[in-house]
Amino acid sequence: MAKRDYYEVLGVAKNATEQELKQAYRKLALKYHPDKNKGDPEAEEKFKEATEAYEVLRDPQKRASYDRFGHEGVSGFDGFGRRAYSDFSDIFGDFDFGDIFDTFFGSSFGTRKGKRVRRGSDIQYDLSITLEEAASGKEVQIEVPRNEMCDKCNGTGSAAGTKPSVCSVCNGTGQIRQTQGFFSITQTCYKCKGSGKVITSPCKSCGGSGLKVKKRTITVKVPAGVESGSRLKITGEGEQGPNGGPSGDLYVVIHVMKHEYFERHGNDIISLINVSFPMACLGGEIEVPTISGSKVIMKIPPGTENGQIFRLKGNGIPYLGSYGRGDQLVKININVPKKLSPRQKELLKEFSKLDGEMVG
Ligand SMILES: [Zn+2]
Ligand SMILES: [Zn+2]
Repeated sequence: MAKRDYYEVLGVAKNATEQELKQAYRKLALKYHPDKNKGDPEAEEKFKEATEAYEVLRDPQKRASYDRFGHEGVSGFDGFGRRAYSDFSDIFGDFDFGDIFDTFFGSSFGTRKGKRVRRGSDIQYDLSITLEEAASGKEVQIEVPRNEMCDKCNGTGSAAGTKPSVCSVCNGTGQIRQTQGFFSITQTCYKCKGSGKVITSPCKSCGGSGLKVKKRTITVKVPAGVESGSRLKITGEGEQGPNGGPSGDLYVVIHVMKHEYFERHGNDIISLINVSFPMACLGGEIEVPTISGSKVIMKIPPGTENGQIFRLKGNGIPYLGSYGRGDQLVKININVPKKLSPRQKELLKEFSKLDGEMVG
């Protein structure tokens, strides 16, 4: 059977917002929820179809690929599994979709059916860079402390030679099931947090959590054109999930430091340059430092005013993820000499005499 269009499956327009997708999926998922339609293969199929459609369209990258290439465009993506369902928690609140996802899509993390696996937390890392680095891009090595599986107990949390005992609250299922109307709501066991086991003698190295903080060196490619607040996502480099759950993501947040000479305005660079009084009058050439580190020769036309701005095209900050760069705006600051030699004074007096002005 030919696959139906994902937008058609969810009954939304091609330009549906994230919120519209979510609402459409929630409606369908609740309607065709297998607990509510026991033994109805058509409902199961519908549920599966809607979930697959939502899983693709909610992800901007997959959606873009689907829009361009159709089903072919998303066939190469990861299957649907635990990670997917853990992300659905905001839609269904406490409904545990673990069983359903396991049944339909298999468990991609090798966990036993019905056991809830938590994804590790995301980590935020603040990275300060100079304005020059923001302009040129940079590869940085950062050390990120994160929770990783304890190697003394292999993440089990139990001291060597001991085994955890079966949780007495859930009898090892990891879940507590309650029936409410149509649904049987499954909640994660509060005592064992879904693992089904209780550690009796905790591992000394990790205190029973199965996780230990370790520093990891990660290479981050900072693209040219970033600005303060830009976030770089490094998938899978967040905290490792407990009990073998998938890792969270690492977010590197960029902070661009203030520069003593250059000021950034969007992709333009503003700088101030001192020009002598005679040069402002007579014109000339001056060396101007740029953000790339090189110097360019700029022409000062005769009669240049204080505060006048000249534009050096293409000497600004590159556009992030695109071609071209902004400009450098050079603002003229005419220097008034404070110390003059007797000869200079004499010449200036003569100069103003020609204007009929009384000076000095
Ligand atoms: Zn339990
Ligand atoms: Zn341990």
